[in-house]
Amino acid sequence: MNKAVFLDRDGVINEVLSNRVKFVNKPEQMYLLEGVGEAVKLLNDAGYFVFVVTNQGGVGLGYMKEEMLLKVHEKMKHDIEEYGGKIDDIIYCPHKPHAGCACRKPEPEMLHQLAKKHNVNLNESFMIGDRDVDIQAGKQAGTNTILIGDEKELADFQFRSLYEAAFWITQK
Ligand SMILES: [Mg+2]
Ligand SMILES: [Zn+2]
Repeated sequence: MNKAVFLDRDGVINEVLSNRVKFVNKPEQMYLLEGVGEAVKLLNDAGYFVFVVTNQGGVGLGYMKEEMLLKVHEKMKHDIEEYGGKIDDIIYCPHKPHAGCACRKPEPEMLHQLAKKHNVNLNESFMIGDRDVDIQAGKQAGTNTILIGDEKELADFQFRSLYEAAFWITQK
């Protein structure tokens, strides 16, 4: 079976609520955080699948069309490839935040779908996010969990950046 690192998108891969971008609704608002391309490459080279698992309620709320979201993701993949990193798959929940869908994090459904599709052992895998819902989704799916940010109440581990997390994972 394979092992994987599931990445939340906003706040882990790219800037949000920074001084130059609020939310990412267009490709030109996609700014990778420092070290992200290198981090993905480290994980690729260590034999992890790298997946993006993201709640995109802005689609359901009408702030962004699904085609535009796909363009944003093309830009993200392209920017990461500039550093030699490869995103193996992307899954998103396009539903409104309170629609009660089965896929929106903290539900583990999106992780389960990717795990099934790519034959991933969740116990040997990691979910990395910057919010509690990411950590809860990882816990419910049975992955190890890493929070990027300050408090790690729920998460198993905590780092300041994706690069630091990836470096630690690949040195284990
Ligand atoms: Mg986030
Ligand atoms: Zn959903």
